[in-house]
Amino acid sequence: MRKKVIAGNWKMYNDIPASVNLISELKKSLSGQEIKADVIICPPFTSLDTAKTLIEGSVIKLGAQNMYFEENGAYTGEISASMLKSAGCEFVILGHSERRTIFLENDQLINKKIKKALSSALKPIFCVGETLQQRESGTTESVIKTQVTEGLSGVSAEDLKKIIIAYEPVWAIGTGKTASPDQAQEVHKFIRTLVEKLYSKEAADEIIIQYGGSVKPENASLLLSQPDVDGALVGGACLKAESFFSIIKAA
Ligand code: PEP
Repeated sequence: MRKKVIAGNWKMYNDIPASVNLISELKKSLSGQEIKADVIICPPFTSLDTAKTLIEGSVIKLGAQNMYFEENGAYTGEISASMLKSAGCEFVILGHSERRTIFLENDQLINKKIKKALSSALKPIFCVGETLQQRESGTTESVIKTQVTEGLSGVSAEDLKKIIIAYEPVWAIGTGKTASPDQAQEVHKFIRTLVEKLYSKEAADEIIIQYGGSVKPENASLLLSQPDVDGALVGGACLKAESFFSIIKAA
């Protein structure tokens, strides 16, 4: 059975003191609780090292929100996989829609990042999702198919085991609009079937597919109870320990 994975994407929120507060509060909520899900936080780069120290001995795991695919070099403003490893990261979010739309990342670049993360022992949380216009024009499945296929190009079956796919409809991110449990399930099932075609039934059964897009304490249980929804990638609601904890409890 697949274990649920709840990840919090802090985006560009929380300086170091605010990060210390949020992690301390989250640890307080989690302590003494029986937590059945995996819990990941993805703070900004500047808080990673502090977070690494604070989460020691807790169930919380650490991820980053982005990285570049080169090992090192003259890439001003970028950060490498090995830097993230040395800061204590186990995971890295790649292909988030904000990276795709604001920073113009395409499937080829995301694929290079995924392969570099894997070869550096970082586990990618690989985001895919359609825009509202794409959904309304009936191209959701073809958009998702291209993003998944291109993003995973050249990734071995063994490495696929280290990848989490996050289905995040762009129209639901930060908008308060959530995909209905049926809409989420439909696309998750589509992705799982696609993974079966690209790899195998075993790979499809094993892969964790998270839903992301305005997940809140009020809608988490229903979304997470769908058979192909294996967790959540949470933005806004992970910035308050109480609401992130409620989502973890729902899982
Ligand atoms: C996200 O940033 O991945 C996300 C899903 O954000 P929100 O939960 O705020 O929609």
